Order: sequence, then structure tokens, then C-alpha cells
Amino acid sequence: MIPYGRQNISDDDIKAVCDVLKSDCLTQGNAVPEFENKVSQYCNAKFAFAVNSATSALHISCLALDVGPNDIVWTSAVSFVASANCALYCGATIDFVDIDAKTYNMCVKSLKAKLEQASESGKLPKVVIPVHLTGQPCDMEEIFELSKKYKFKIIEDASHAIGAKYKNTKIGDCTYSDIAVFSFHPVKIITTGEGGMATTNNKGIANKLSLYRTHGITRDENAMHNNPDGPWYYEQIKLGFNYRMTDIQAALGVSQMNRLDSFIEKRHEIFKRYNEYFQDLPIIKTPWQSSDRYSSLHLYVIRLNKNKSKVSHIKLFNYLRDNNIGVNIHYIPIYRQPFYSKFNFNFSDFPESENYYSEAISIPMYPDLDKSSQEFVYKLIKSQVGTS
Ligand SMILES: *Cc1c(COP(=O)(O)O)cnc(C)c1O
Repeated sequence: MIPYGRQNISDDDIKAVCDVLKSDCLTQGNAVPEFENKVSQYCNAKFAFAVNSATSALHISCLALDVGPNDIVWTSAVSFVASANCALYCGATIDFVDIDAKTYNMCVKSLKAKLEQASESGKLPKVVIPVHLTGQPCDMEEIFELSKKYKFKIIEDASHAIGAKYKNTKIGDCTYSDIAVFSFHPVKIITTGEGGMATTNNKGIANKLSLYRTHGITRDENAMHNNPDGPWYYEQIKLGFNYRMTDIQAALGVSQMNRLDSFIEKRHEIFKRYNEYFQDLPIIKTPWQSSDRYSSLHLYVIRLNKNKSKVSHIKLFNYLRDNNIGVNIHYIPIYRQPFYSKFNFNFSDFPESENYYSEAISIPMYPDLDKSSQEFVYKLIKSQVGTS
């Protein structure tokens, strides 16, 4: 089986993890702060908080921006369910913005139109969560401009996008957002097994992220309500969670960070080779890249022109799976999930997401994918769609 994505683990990674296992601290030692420093320095962010998943990072990010039952959160219609669930964890109302036909990210035109409508009906979102789908940065400048006009906060779901660049900024430096969130699940750009991180430049937000990650407990005297009873004293001042990352995971993260740039370079080589192969298959649309952005290329999504193709989307998908290619669809639009049916979303409000869902297939993309496997994938697709 050639999967659509997979991790790269080196001897150095294994040694880093074993060193923690042989040490005194499996958790709450030095590895987590070291990993946080490494990521915050890499991204040029002031603060970084490692947690046990990006899902947890999204949850505490919403809480840190005071999202609650009377609030509305918007995210991109085509994303992993976690981008939306974080709002529901806080009791907030969720709504979706349609995607752009070219980038598959949140469409700024749709966002603008939706904001104008929401402004009239008094239902503006408190937080908007753009998702850098496949590692391609969203139109952050435009979204940031709209956030000033309509007074919403921004959480970047950068689960796919550590190492990506937007104009002169690194994704995660929060130039155009309040918080950015990374995932370290094994299929993502770097891994800690399971894991996530939230970055921010805002001290107040940082304090809240830190509290919500660990039960809402503080040991900082300045944040306490009472005078300490003694040196053992701590206070719980919010209802937080145990979302901590272990040192075992963080040590793997530190070691993986050393290869982050080379992982992405390899992804770009693979990207170029696929693009060259698919040149002779006009029925296959290859991923669009913006000249002012550097994608981390988490995924390589092809689109089958369903009006012109002699093979259907599902047939092509099944054929590839039958031939041991672990293709996937990223993603089923979230409003289509049965759990979301109670919110009565109208599929026809999201025409580009619907189009995307009927045409997109993620084909294998990971640093160790070799040329012959790429050629094999291409030839299988060609055998189905033909050259016309
Ligand atoms: C993977 C992913 C998440 C969740 O990440 P976990 O670390 O698995 O919790 C959230 N959003 C997007 C877009 C993702 O791809």
C-alpha cells in the first residue's frame, strides 16, 4: 500500500525519544519548553503552547478568545471536523464560509458577502477560523482587513501548514491573526505521534492558553485571588483541562524540527514531478500555487473534470484503492456530517465546496515517496482517464 501521507522517523528521532524514557521526567520536564522554544523561534512567534493535539489547541484557543454560548464562530466549509467542533465545545454557534474555486481555502468574496449580511441581521461572528488547506496559506491580509472592519478575532487552523510562508511572514507568526494552531499527527508535516501547538504574540491570550491547558491552575502569585497558604499552594481560577503534551512526544518534535525545511523541500520536488506528469492529462486539474506564498504541501489534491471525464470520480477513487494506492478525500464538507444535520445547513449555499467534493482526490504525498511510486500512481490514473 502506498499511503496518501506518512511520517519520516530517523535514528536521531528514536534516540531523542529513548533519552527521555531513560530520564526522570516523562512529562513536565525540559523537552516541552524546548520544543515550544524551537517552534516559536522558527515561526517568529512570541509564545507557543504545546498540547496533546491540534483539536485541543483549537479548543483552548476558542476559550482564550472568550468564545461562549452566545457567540458565533465561522470556519471553512472544507476542512477536518475539528476546525468546527472547537466552537461547539464552547457552546457557540458554528457557520461555514464557502471555499475559493482555485485555492480551496476560505473564499474572501464569500466571506465579505456573508459578513455584510450578518452585519445587517446582527449575527456577526466573534471568531473566524481560516484553514490553510493542503499547506497553502489563505488570503490572510484580506481576512485581517475584514476582521478590523467587522471586529472579529482570527484563529488560523495551520494544522497542515507549519513551515509555510505567506508573503514576508511565516505561518504561525500571527502577523494577521490572534492565534495559529499546528497539528503533529503522523500524516502532517512533522510529528510527535499525537500533538499540537498554539502560537500567539498576545500576552493575555498566552496566559489563558497556559491556564486552559492545565486544569485552569496557576502557580503565579500575581494571578492568584488569595495569598498563598504556603509553598505547596496553587489556585484553580478557570475550568481547564489536561491537554498537556508529554516530554516523550516533545523530544520527538524537537528532533523532527531539525528536518522540517528539508521535508518541505522534498515535498516540493514531488509536487513538481507530479505537475510534469499530469501535463499530458488535461482532465486532471493539479493544485494551484500562488507566487507570493510558499506552501508546506501537506497534500497533493487532484481534481477530475467531471463534465469531461469518461471515468467517474468514485470509479477512479476505487480503482486507485484497488491497486493499493491509499488515496483519500480531504475533506467531506463539514456541513454534510450527520452530527451537523440538526443545524439545517443548505448544501446549495456552498456551491464550490460541493463541486470540490465531487471532484477532489488526495494522491500520495510525503517526503519519502520515491519517483517510481509517483510514476506508478500517475500511470494508474492515466490508464483510467486517458489523454483526451
Ligand atoms: C489534522 C487536523 C486537525 C486536528 O489535528 P489533531 O492533531 O489530529 O487533533 C484540525 N484541523 C485540520 C485542518 C487538520 O487537518
